[in-house]
Amino acid sequence: MPQQPLMNTYKRLSVSFERGEGCWLYDTDGNKYLDALSGIAVCGLGHSHPAVTTAICEQASQLIHTSNLYNIPLQEQLAARLTNISGMDKVFFSNSGAEANEAAIKIARKFGHAKGIEKPSIIVMESSFHGRTMATLSATGNRAVQAGFEPLVGGFVRAPYNDAEAIRAIAANNKNIVAILVEPILGEGGVLIPADDYLAQLRSICDDNDWLLMLDEVQTGNGRTGRYFAYQHSYIIPDVVTTAKGLGNGFPIGACLAKGRAATTFTPGAHGSTFGGSPLACAVGLAVTDTIMNEDLCDRAASLGKRILDGFKEQLEGMNYVKEIRGKGLMIAIELNEAGSELAILAKVKGILLNITGGGHVIRLLPPLVMTDTEADLLVNTLSKLIKIYAADERSKPRS
Ligand SMILES: *Cc1c(COP(=O)(O)O)cnc(C)c1O
Repeated sequence: MPQQPLMNTYKRLSVSFERGEGCWLYDTDGNKYLDALSGIAVCGLGHSHPAVTTAICEQASQLIHTSNLYNIPLQEQLAARLTNISGMDKVFFSNSGAEANEAAIKIARKFGHAKGIEKPSIIVMESSFHGRTMATLSATGNRAVQAGFEPLVGGFVRAPYNDAEAIRAIAANNKNIVAILVEPILGEGGVLIPADDYLAQLRSICDDNDWLLMLDEVQTGNGRTGRYFAYQHSYIIPDVVTTAKGLGNGFPIGACLAKGRAATTFTPGAHGSTFGGSPLACAVGLAVTDTIMNEDLCDRAASLGKRILDGFKEQLEGMNYVKEIRGKGLMIAIELNEAGSELAILAKVKGILLNITGGGHVIRLLPPLVMTDTEADLLVNTLSKLIKIYAADERSKPRS
């Protein structure tokens, strides 16, 4: 065997997929798998969605890339679409979630400097995830993501998640704060859903202190939680919203949306991206947003998510092994009392793709928005059975 030529950045399951259709992936041996992860909240429309395929093929045959030195009408169209959906004013396009967050961080700092704050700081949360670039890993609330990469980027102040009082305490003592950067639901952190009034509380703290409320909707956006953006459950308007994952259904595109003063912070030369907002990426983004809106997939995510959540509760609630079953739309978690990292491998053997997060204790499900009721029931039944068998096996093991 030749030596593996890839850098050792991922622990991978031993399977390669060759083809995908809807919620199903087919491996190189012809086995099929129900995809309950969507490539980590990316393929919301499932695999090989005709609207996406057509957009890619038609736009690629016409024009892939020009440069942001010229007008890009498709970029303006997608920006108009996103501002319409979100209530924001302006959009900057990137190629990934981390880059969208970099734009947000730069907006906050420039906003701070414009107010005469020389060392602007941003409040970020424990257990958060914002990306792998130096600034976004510094913002991330997980030491494992940061360890070995010091010195970290400064200007971040850490606070506990879902604790508005802790933010008020920081406000009283730190005059350098210019913004809060927060996920409406912690994704990588284990699908942690804050109190219903959390974002409203943060909004009012930001208003009282003249801070920007910046929401990282890289994972929660694009219909996943049952609204196009998760903050739309809370009836607030943030100053900055970032998104990526589900926006291109697998084609790389990210966006940083901003409102009011935050939207006019950047001036020519302040920020940029060679690839960001190419005609091809934006044609795909338009096809994806069109499909989500025209096919009412936000509502579908809400009702399908409830069906799956109720199904798991019916089958698993009350088990010693299961600590909590929670979710919003199609962001669903089954939290275990013990680490269950092997469950991803066992589920794969049973033909289900899922992911374990939250330090090995949380089974995370992010199914495509286009999943049928039948597929959802298959997911619930197969996974519930697997968890029951696994829990029984675990209990019968001698305690070390
Ligand atoms: C995935 C994710 C990111 C990083 O996105 P990349 O496209 O991998 O750079 C940032 N924030 C959140 C909340 C995410 O889930």
